[in-house]
Amino acid sequence: MIIVMKPGTPDHESDRLRISLEQQGFYINVSKGLNYCILGVVGDTSTFDPKRITVNDYVEKVMRVTEPFKRANRLFHPEDSVVDVSGVPIGGKKLTVIAGPCSIETEEQMNTVAASVKASGAALLRGGAFKPRTSPYSFQGLKEHGLDLLEQAGAQNNLPIVTEIMSADKIEKFVGKVDLIQVGARNMQNFELLKELGRTNVPILLKRGLSATIEEWIMSAEYIMAGGNENVILCERGIRTFENYTRNTLDVSAIPAVKKLSHLPVMVDPSHAAGMWWMVEPLAKAAVAVGADGLMIEVHNDPENALCDGAQSLKPERFQRLMEELRAIARIVGRDM
Ligand code: PEP
Ligand code: MN
Repeated sequence: MIIVMKPGTPDHESDRLRISLEQQGFYINVSKGLNYCILGVVGDTSTFDPKRITVNDYVEKVMRVTEPFKRANRLFHPEDSVVDVSGVPIGGKKLTVIAGPCSIETEEQMNTVAASVKASGAALLRGGAFKPRTSPYSFQGLKEHGLDLLEQAGAQNNLPIVTEIMSADKIEKFVGKVDLIQVGARNMQNFELLKELGRTNVPILLKRGLSATIEEWIMSAEYIMAGGNENVILCERGIRTFENYTRNTLDVSAIPAVKKLSHLPVMVDPSHAAGMWWMVEPLAKAAVAVGADGLMIEVHNDPENALCDGAQSLKPERFQRLMEELRAIARIVGRDM
């Protein structure tokens, strides 16, 4: 952190600030010019709020040189993290694909989709049981019964399962049943939920909020990690922009950015970014090309009649073709699939 004092600040005032920071455990490097005095604060400032310094009348400005997150920061953990999801590694050299319908609807639907995505090479099965819908009149999910159907389809096809949690009171039901707990875009900053998930050791798939900056997103991962649960996987799923042709705008640049800032694995959900099935394929390829550790893709056996997100769901045959094409891109960028 760098503190620039106002021109003409009396020496005793900059000394006072320096001593106070030293007493807080920081090493202070002082550079003095004709007009300006600059304090370079060395040490872990991730838990330090720079606003505390700006209230000092003699301070011109304060600049951070490191990020406010610590456990998720690559600076303190240079190697890529690999999260083990019930035997499936996410991160590292491996490219992992999660597939399944937006919502769990029937036993037949889940078993059909599970068997087909497994045959195409998906490593995990997704399906929503508790759905965060924009309208309270839309299908809200099959809830506990949905979890049972997902669990059964996963077990039958030897696929670990991924599903979204919306509130902390459901954690007990999810733990031991769900292999990867998804925190959806709308709950990315549900800090009480994040804190409670931090007390478990279940892997968490943390989707980026609709209007969240990269730093806010990583700070949400930090919430989970600060509680002791370091098994966090980030998922870019498109953000709100002025463009309304697509449902959201896939922020492809977020993938290398997050990889630079953090050691956590980053997955991409091209389905919710695009909102249209025909755009899922090119976006999935782009994501792999720029270094995503995996993809989450919505697949439905009967998208025309899906209860949620049919327009962005791939039919099993298309998913199969996409998986074959992704293998070629994965090879070029040095990933195993
Ligand atoms: C989902 O994955 O079904 C979902 C609702 O995604 P998001 O939170 O990204 O909108
Ligand atoms: Mn969906």
